[in-house]
Amino acid sequence: TPTIGVLALQGDTAEHLRVLEGLGVPARPVLRPEELDEVDGLVLPGGESTTMSKLAVRYELMEPMRKRIHEGLPAYGTCAGMILLADHILDGAADQETVGGIDMTVRRNAFGRQTESFESPIEIEGVDGGPLDAVFIRAPWVESVGADVDVIGQVTRGERAGRIVAVRQGALLATSFHPELTGDARIHRLFVDMVKGNA
Ligand code: GLN
Repeated sequence: TPTIGVLALQGDTAEHLRVLEGLGVPARPVLRPEELDEVDGLVLPGGESTTMSKLAVRYELMEPMRKRIHEGLPAYGTCAGMILLADHILDGAADQETVGGIDMTVRRNAFGRQTESFESPIEIEGVDGGPLDAVFIRAPWVESVGADVDVIGQVTRGERAGRIVAVRQGALLATSFHPELTGDARIHRLFVDMVKGNA
């Protein structure tokens, strides 16, 4: 069984660890570079991407994360974690760095001030059993993707219909929303299957 790490610099690390443990997957927080060497997959949680990226530099995790992800470490980012996995960002803080890995442009806080948080059913390609109840909190959306990126989830109703909120590129997965907060483990199961090489 693979071990999955959850980046523990800031954000909802504990919620991700709980979901993974619920699936019976060994999971542990990653705060030091050595801890990154011991995991077979990495979750980047929701939280505040500017803070997380500053802390990643300070804790000397930024370069090691870039290196391991470049080498093929499977990773899953939710919300702020999606921003961290983006090669390009819009509306970032001045000189906000990302880990990168997914050939996409992500717009921070894209859903706007009036709708700081909302829920919407989202159908995810590769996830059976009907749409997920997706929770968005000051969420980003994916503005554009490169040719190697699969769009696996989009908003289907309302004025935001068509907005891209879930993507996959090889072993990398990202969602604008927070499945770690809703008790629906299907996306985490997909990620575990990706780590095992079965998806
Ligand atoms: N708006 C946050 C950011 O830019 C992300 C919010 C979240 O992770 N819920 O980092």
